[in-house]
Amino acid sequence: MRALGFHEHGDLSKLQLLDLPKPEPAAGEVRLKVAYAALNRLDLFVLKGWKGLELPKPHVGGSDGAGVIDARGPGVTGWREGDRVVVFPSLSCGKCEYCARGEISLCPKHHLIGEHEGGMAKEYANVPAANLKRVPDGFPLRDAAAAALTAVTAWRMLRRARVAAGETVLVVGGAGGVNSMAIQMARHLGARVIATATSDEKAAVAKGLGAEQALAASGDWHKEVFRLTNGRGADVVVDNVGEATWGKSIRAAARGGRIVTVGGTTGYNPPAEINQVMWKQLEIIGSTMGSRAEFEEAMELVFAGKVRVVIDQEFPLEQGAEAYRRLAEGKAAGKVVLRAAP
Ligand code: ZN
Repeated sequence: MRALGFHEHGDLSKLQLLDLPKPEPAAGEVRLKVAYAALNRLDLFVLKGWKGLELPKPHVGGSDGAGVIDARGPGVTGWREGDRVVVFPSLSCGKCEYCARGEISLCPKHHLIGEHEGGMAKEYANVPAANLKRVPDGFPLRDAAAAALTAVTAWRMLRRARVAAGETVLVVGGAGGVNSMAIQMARHLGARVIATATSDEKAAVAKGLGAEQALAASGDWHKEVFRLTNGRGADVVVDNVGEATWGKSIRAAARGGRIVTVGGTTGYNPPAEINQVMWKQLEIIGSTMGSRAEFEEAMELVFAGKVRVVIDQEFPLEQGAEAYRRLAEGKAAGKVVLRAAP
């Protein structure tokens, strides 16, 4: 079977179309005939590699995937061949205090399919049956795959930031995977949304998803936010950009506001601005991935059409390197997806 992966870490030139044996599902697993996989920034990090990362090679990327059950391993009940499913990509130890209360993204052994485990960018993938969620008839498998990780990540992020009806949420960094979900989910929770955008195209996408304004990322958008909120600032600021924007995000927050982050694409160590944090009594909230319950809630919003899945571009596995490039260039408005079927 065909798979998109690499034998050694490095740049995009390391990606290859591989020919791997079709896997046999182990106990508790199903084999999926993958319809679509989707890429996340994590895939770029994994390709590049980091100190201490030791993966069996070749490694196949793609944390997100959806498809049809093709075979069942021993002991799998409740699922049948032909069932259409999407994969919850989180794996954890199942034994620690965090797992015991369902907070698996806090588990010290939490990891993702496509990160420390082989990913979904292949024709057939073995997946634990416990990680499956049924996709309703008629709902596109492409959109289910594209939603999975970003939907649960955005949903937990907004829940942790306690976004409430009537509040103003500033989404910094436009309309990538997580943010395109966050804009819509914040609107679903009854908030007013202001976004920033690095291009006219991304501004149009952000507005189409429900952002009232999409401010130019190159400008003094923190001042604009104050103007748009009668000098108050944003109750919640979503900043996954990091070093390039953090200072402005702190300034754009209202007194008593919350800043929430699930990453820092431009760097992890911006100035802390402790004086602003103190005077305005800000809360800085970290979030990552989400629980199984949050995955259920987020995907139900997607399946119900309350949150639209924004697809930037679809590539066949053969053009996987182009898909990675699209994501790496930072131009994608929405998700970059891989079509696994020939
Ligand atoms: Zn655990």
